[in-house]
Formats: sequence, structure tokens, C-alpha cells
Amino acid sequence: MAIDLEKVYKEAGALLEGHFLLSSGNHSQFYLQSAKVLENPKTAALLANELAKQIKKSNIKIDTVCSPALGGILAGYELARALNARFIFTERVDKVMTLRRGFEVEEGENILICEDIITTAGSALEAAKVVEEKGAKVVAFGALANRGFCQRTGSKKTAKPECKLPKDMPFFALDDFDFEIYEPQNCPLCKDGSKAYKPGSRGN
Ligand code: ZN
Repeated sequence: MAIDLEKVYKEAGALLEGHFLLSSGNHSQFYLQSAKVLENPKTAALLANELAKQIKKSNIKIDTVCSPALGGILAGYELARALNARFIFTERVDKVMTLRRGFEVEEGENILICEDIITTAGSALEAAKVVEEKGAKVVAFGALANRGFCQRTGSKKTAKPECKLPKDMPFFALDDFDFEIYEPQNCPLCKDGSKAYKPGSRGN
């Protein structure tokens, strides 16, 4: 791969080190803040172009890239540009993922669902369900980075049970960020006496 994704994230201040309380309730020493990488449009384009190369090699035809708001929008938009595809996004209304703003999909339209980071792929699958219910066909998933739960196309790291993506579905990402996640009662950082905090709560 031409891009060292970890280096790109580190240099952008997007790979945070500390003691983080994740939305799952578990703890981690590292946290990825993709918005910090994507605040530079040139970096966003560089990463999306690299991801598009992988997707083009697969010969899977993509008509449209669809991202779940908010996290996936920037990555998905750049990827759509690189693939010369259309871009739409889904969003939650009262917690339910929906397609709004006049966005429509056609029967049989080939869609790639794009996130910034795929963790267990929960939101990505909700977005997939929305467009499939309207007759479109989800043909692949994509993300800048794979958090290490799912198996990305071309990686030897296999999927963990937490991954919600269908096994036969191509999943393109630039690299794996496979950090340890700890249950609070087994967290070595807690044992060392520090307290986990939510990313963003200290200005990050
Ligand atoms: Zn902890």
C-alpha cells in the first residue's frame, strides 16, 4: 500500500492516546478521530483515491456511494468523487436510520456503503437496509480504516464475532487499526489508577 495510514492519522493528531471510554462501555488506550484527518481536504482526497483504486481493481460496479451521517459523509463524498459515482447519505430521525432530503435510489442501483471507520459495522448495515428496502442493491462496504473486528478484503486478519457484516460481502479499507479493547473490570489502565474519559470531553 502506498499510504501509511497510521502515520497519516498520527500526523493529523487523529490517533489519540489516553484512557478512553468507548460508546460500547469498554475502555481503550487509543481512539481514532477521523474528522481530524479529513479536516485537510487534500488528505481526504489522497485517502479516498487510494481506497478507490482497491475498489476499481475488484471490478465491482458502483453507481452510488451512501454513507450514514455524520461520521461517514466526508469519506463517502470523497470516495464518490474518486469513483465518479453519485453520493447520498442516510441519517437518524428519532434513532431510526432514514433517507431524506429528496435522495432517492433506483431499483437495482449498485450501492457501496461508506464509513470513516468500520468497527462492528452497525450503522453501515442500518444504512444498507434503508437503501435495500427501496430496491437498490448493496454490493460492497468501504471505510478509510477497519477497527479490527471485521475482515477487510485482502487482509489476513479474520473477522471477530462482533462484526455484523455479511461474510460474503466485500469490505474495502486502507488498513486495520486493531487496538486492544478492555472490559472495565479487566482494564490495565484502570488498574494503574487512571480514569477512563469519553473522547471529546477534554477538548479532543
Ligand atoms: Zn480503564
